[in-house]
Amino acid sequence: MSDRLNATPNDLRAFWMPFTANRQFKKEPRLFVGAKDMYYTTHDGRQVLDGTAGLWCVNAGHCRPKITEAIRQQAGELDYAPAFQLGHPKAFELANRLVDIASEGMDHVLYTNSGSESVETALKVALAYHRVKGNGSRFRLIGRERGYHGVNFGGISVGGIVSNRKMFGTLLTGVDHMPHTHVPGKNAFTRGEPEHGGDIASELERIVTLHDPSTIAAVIVEPVAGSTGVLIPPKGYLQKLREICTKHGILLIFDEVITGFGRLGTPFAAQYYDVKPDMITTAKGLTNGVIPMGAVFVTSEIHDAFMQGPEHMIEFFHGYTYSGNPIASAAALATLDTYKEEGLLTRAAELSDYWADALHSLKDCPNVIDIRNTGLIGAIELDPIAGEPTKRAFTAFLKAYEKGLLIRTTGDIIALSPPLIIEKHHIDELFGKLRDILQNNI
Ligand code: PLP
Repeated sequence: MSDRLNATPNDLRAFWMPFTANRQFKKEPRLFVGAKDMYYTTHDGRQVLDGTAGLWCVNAGHCRPKITEAIRQQAGELDYAPAFQLGHPKAFELANRLVDIASEGMDHVLYTNSGSESVETALKVALAYHRVKGNGSRFRLIGRERGYHGVNFGGISVGGIVSNRKMFGTLLTGVDHMPHTHVPGKNAFTRGEPEHGGDIASELERIVTLHDPSTIAAVIVEPVAGSTGVLIPPKGYLQKLREICTKHGILLIFDEVITGFGRLGTPFAAQYYDVKPDMITTAKGLTNGVIPMGAVFVTSEIHDAFMQGPEHMIEFFHGYTYSGNPIASAAALATLDTYKEEGLLTRAAELSDYWADALHSLKDCPNVIDIRNTGLIGAIELDPIAGEPTKRAFTAFLKAYEKGLLIRTTGDIIALSPPLIIEKHHIDELFGKLRDILQNNI
């Protein structure tokens, strides 16, 4: 693009953008050319308050000097090291640091390059784990309606978003889905965990009975479903899933790609809800979104099951060219330092009441039919326009962008997840701008 401030549709034609209305975008481009802390700078020179931490990933805010410097240094020192049968110290240091902040028992880490790859990795570990334990008949995977687990074949198979699944044939076989936990009406305008719906977990028992426990490898859920509109687990729900999985020898995987790294005020949602899964998938906040990297946490029980046979043999036939890449590892270490120095992994707990008050103050705006929150996450559900679903929220998104506020929308739901460095005055700015938009009867 010759002049980034004057992009024409022709300049933008080659990039087929992900999860984007490409034709609309290219007529009316929205480009960021800079960012610092809580704000983006647009191609037309405006400041936009980041209400979504990029895509739920920039937890420490933008262009943090420590992370930038770590990347710069590492790139000049050791740019790449083969990931198979060889290593470099930072990947090991990072894994140790990661297990230190995870729940007790999450003792080992496999690296990936994204949330989608973390999910594929966890599903493969689950199947292989049962094989090495001599339970090869456990091949079924159970996901959930309205679940999002990335876009690769395993992830869309266990995921429950129809539009992400319907074009792609039969997907993985042997997958079943639990119902989602959203109970409209009854739980509307709840703060934190909804009262109603915990019993939906018993649907897992029904599915397990239907297929027989001896055929089921793993259950995967997002503790808080983010991409389908912030569905917060009802009271008791996750605990009940854990009980059922334990009873039947089924592995429980928490997909914490968005809840990991402080979003709820604890390092991981597993700690917030006091539930111990067998694996946790992460990405995004691991490197503050700056460099692609993901990590799958597994228990010693799972890891140790693979550590048998002759020592010169590879124990698990899986991995990526970039698993534990040196520059990504350096970025992640600097990110963990930043989280620690600034208390960011617990900051959501300190701010969540102020956040919830500001969010729920929009209840009286026209067309708002529900508001939900937990940690530094919020959702505002709008009444869809008859015959034009998603239009109302998309209009809010466009107006917010014009007004200098980045929000995210899914269907007719506005989802908010700001960087964890947010201050109270940013929260006031965010909800002040949103009120102006919603009051205008979009
Ligand atoms: N899992 C969850 C819960 C997510 O929210 C996402 C992305 O938003 C993913 C997996 C996929 O992550 P990625 O886009 O890095 O592949």
